[in-house]
Amino acid sequence: MPSIYEFSKDELAQAVSGEPRYRVDQLWHGLWSEAQEVGDITTVPKALRARLAEEFAPALRAVHDVESDHGSTRKWVFQLAGGATIETVLMIYEDRATVCVSSQAGCAMGCTFCATGQAGFTRHLTVGEVIEQVMVAARAAAPRRLSNVVFMGMGEPLANYAVTVDVLRRLHDFRGLSARHLTVSTVGVAPAIERLAREGLPLTLAVSLHAANDETRNQLVPLNRRYPLDRLHAACVDWIATTTRRLSFEWALIDEVNDTDQAIRELAEYAGSLRAHVNLIPLNPTPGYLVRGSSSQRVREFREGLEALGVTVTVRRTRGRSIDAACGQLAQVTNPKRRSIPLQVI
Ligand code: SAH
Ligand code: SF4
Repeated sequence: MPSIYEFSKDELAQAVSGEPRYRVDQLWHGLWSEAQEVGDITTVPKALRARLAEEFAPALRAVHDVESDHGSTRKWVFQLAGGATIETVLMIYEDRATVCVSSQAGCAMGCTFCATGQAGFTRHLTVGEVIEQVMVAARAAAPRRLSNVVFMGMGEPLANYAVTVDVLRRLHDFRGLSARHLTVSTVGVAPAIERLAREGLPLTLAVSLHAANDETRNQLVPLNRRYPLDRLHAACVDWIATTTRRLSFEWALIDEVNDTDQAIRELAEYAGSLRAHVNLIPLNPTPGYLVRGSSSQRVREFREGLEALGVTVTVRRTRGRSIDAACGQLAQVTNPKRRSIPLQVI
């Protein structure tokens, strides 16, 4: 049985045909506005709730649930139908909360420094599986409002394009989230960026750049061989022209790989020509990549170097490192054989 979050309101009405329209409204409100599980929507009669709860079992089963940063970061490992596992991270701030969702179990892109990439691809997630991650997080964040959803968990959202766009629309139309508070992070699937620009959703786009010369980027991000920096640049120009939205670049700082003075100049030129914002992420450790992240001093120098060249920069605060919930650390490997990937040193 599919997740109840796969349904449109009309489809839900059909599933409970015979019930008055206001019942459908109550269910819809409970599911989308209140983020309730169907069995907990107490505005509808118990028998109907019980029937629906039986028909629509949740798509996610939490097999781990851990907290760090004094309870302000929470990570779940969910098992999906078929046995694959994914991870979801909730970050709680004073007055709001952000959830980082997975779009795939694993990832086929193979970025060398990323734990998900090291583990390989298992399968795409369904719409219901992505939305349920948001709803579990919304429940856990209460009474704070879950205001932001970022596609920065496991997987490449633009490689699961139709599901990603459907989820974004539902979160916007049914849950009422502002499109600006929905962020898609992509490794740079150029044609998909151009397609996304035409969906009429004023989202926030983050492009994981990590290197602004093709030689280094080919090593870090294998997809660069298919869509090299010039092609990616054209897609970014198109995004900005079509959406009139700025975009940001993600850059995980790796000791002596992409934190050199030359890298500062290359990045400043690439980002500057697009008036893009840069987010620096100190590299988080992963088991399959033996290169260190930049020192905090080098992170500061790198930021100052970019700023001196006119680029706006944010250094991302790392959250959840102790529970492997930080960027690039998400990889719950179901098949132990997949662990035997070669160690990469660049
Ligand atoms: N596939 C998408 C979204 C998921 S990855 C993408 O690559 O953009 C989310 C972010 O974590 C990306 O910016 C990615 O480059 C970054 N990341 C991956 N591994 C990392 C690591 N070991 N340390 C810091 N950031 C990492
Ligand atoms: Fe996939 Fe993103 Fe990790 Fe690259 S960085 S392997 S695209 S999840």
